[in-house]
Amino acid sequence: MSKSLESIVLLGTAYSGSTALGMALHSTKNKLTYVGELSRAPGLFEKYQLDNIVGTCSACQINEATCQIFNSSLFKRLKDKHPSEAHRYLLRHLKTKTIIDASKHAAWLRLLAEETSIDKIRVLITVKNPKYYVQSCLDREIDSAWLAANAWRDTYFDTLRTLNRLGVSYFVVRNEDFMQNRANIIHSIESFLGLQYKIQPQTKPIHAIGGNPAARLEEQGSKKIRESARRLSKRVFDLNPLKTNPTEQQKITYDTQVLFDTPGLSDMANLLGYNAKDLL
Ligand SMILES: [Zn+2]
Repeated sequence: MSKSLESIVLLGTAYSGSTALGMALHSTKNKLTYVGELSRAPGLFEKYQLDNIVGTCSACQINEATCQIFNSSLFKRLKDKHPSEAHRYLLRHLKTKTIIDASKHAAWLRLLAEETSIDKIRVLITVKNPKYYVQSCLDREIDSAWLAANAWRDTYFDTLRTLNRLGVSYFVVRNEDFMQNRANIIHSIESFLGLQYKIQPQTKPIHAIGGNPAARLEEQGSKKIRESARRLSKRVFDLNPLKTNPTEQQKITYDTQVLFDTPGLSDMANLLGYNAKDLL
């Protein structure tokens, strides 16, 4: 690994598999520490206004526990820091070599690049087939298909434009490939990052801010996840009500013609590695 690599930043839409990927990389024991969606940390959330809801440690949220790491004392120390300072603080505080930040916003990366040399940053673009992304939004009743399709295209347009403009190295992780063959994808990412492959089973919960609770099914068990979904509001605990197993394929309930009717969406999907048949 490059000695200077400080930050691995995950960029993409919601439901693109960033939580599962971040947790899997954390578990490789390469001194990579997944911190979750840092832009949602209390203080940074209010200051930068990139997210809809403030974040808390999802492992501790499920267990109704006070987080020993991501607690009010840490958030107090982070709140006045620029994102770059927050990363450097977390590197020292968590005694790690590299932070994995799944904030996912291109705007967050632009902030980081203001005060961190780009050779200290690598980006993993996480992407879900737009067909399944739109369905995830429809399942949660948060967007119409038309709005979700536009948001998908614009997110990746902004992501690629930002990365090319800044000159940050990146690697694209399609969620469907990751779910099908995690070990191969992790291996490819480690080659990209210049890391040794040292995967070890994760025995303790991974503390991190926010993320998709479905990615914690293996860690916490489906009973606890379902209980938490009943106890917490849909807004706070963002579990897809129609899909609680992240490996099962989503049933498409809408006319996918909307994907082809969204200007530039199929070109963007093509650029990110999808074929025409993947969108049908
Ligand atoms: Zn925690």
